[in-house]
Amino acid sequence: MNDVAMMQKNKINARDMLPMYMNLWYNATMLRIQTLASGSGGNAVYVASDTTQILIDVGLSLPRLSKRLDAAGIDAGSIDAVLVTHEHTDHVIGLDSFMKKYQADLHVHTNTVDIFAHIPSDRIYTFEGEFKIGDITVRHFPVPHDSKFCYGYTFTQGTHKIAMATDFGRINESIIDAMSGAQIVMIECNHCLRRLTSNTKYPLVLKRRIMGSFGHLSNPTCALAVYRLAQTGVSQVILAHLSEENNSPALAYNSVKDFLHTKGITEGVDIWIDVALQDEVGKRFEVK
Ligand SMILES: [Zn+2]
Ligand SMILES: [Zn+2]
Repeated sequence: MNDVAMMQKNKINARDMLPMYMNLWYNATMLRIQTLASGSGGNAVYVASDTTQILIDVGLSLPRLSKRLDAAGIDAGSIDAVLVTHEHTDHVIGLDSFMKKYQADLHVHTNTVDIFAHIPSDRIYTFEGEFKIGDITVRHFPVPHDSKFCYGYTFTQGTHKIAMATDFGRINESIIDAMSGAQIVMIECNHCLRRLTSNTKYPLVLKRRIMGSFGHLSNPTCALAVYRLAQTGVSQVILAHLSEENNSPALAYNSVKDFLHTKGITEGVDIWIDVALQDEVGKRFEVK
C-alpha cells in the first residue's frame, strides 16, 4: 500500500504524516566514530557518515592498518579523506604509504603544508577555518603539545557532533568550548600520575615532558575535562591514547568514573565511558 492509500484508509491527512517523514529523514543521517588503534604505539581513528569516510591519523604501518580496517569491516579504498592531528611518528608513520596506495585526499592546515610537501600537491587540500568533507563539517582547534602543530577536531552533520582530542598536556577553555555539546567525545586519558612518577624505567626529563603543559593528559585532568563536558550534554566518552607503561584501561576508566560519581554523575546512567585500546579495534559509536 502506498502512502496516499494508507492515508485514505486510516483517515489521516498530510500534516499527520509529517512527523513520520521527519523521523525517517532524521534517522537517515548518522555520524559514527571507531578507533582502529590508540596509544603511543600508533593511532588511527575512523569517522564516517552514510556517504563520507574520514581517517584521522595514519600512525600504523600499512600492513597493520590494513588488518585493523579489515577487522572493522572498512574498505581502505573507499576512504575519502585523511586528517592528521600532528606530526609525531605514532600519528603519521603510515601516512606516505597510505597516500601512495589509495586515492584519499589529505586535508592539512595552511600553516602545516610544508610538513607534507612530499605528498603530491594535487592530493592536498588546505584549510584555515571550518570546511566540509562530503556531508561532514570539520572544525579544528589547537591543543598544547610538543609538536610543530597539534589539533583536535570536531565533526558535525546537522545536529550530530563528534569531538576528538589527544596528545595535549593541559585543558583550556577553548578546548572545552570546541568539544562542548558533542554527543560523543574521544579524549586523551594518558597516565596515572602515581604510576608515572614511580616508574623507574622513565628518566626524570621524560616524566617532566609527559606531565608538562605540552605533554599528555593525566587521568585526573581528563576526568575534570569529562566532567566539564558532561555539563554541556556529552553523554558518550571514549578514553584514548592510554600509556601502556603508566596506565591501564581499568585505571583510566575507574579514575574518570569515580571522579564523576563524586559530582553526582553516574556512569551507565548519565554518561557512558569506553576505553580505546592500542592493539584492538574499538567499538563503533554512532550518533543518530
Ligand atoms: Zn601520540
Ligand atoms: Zn604526540
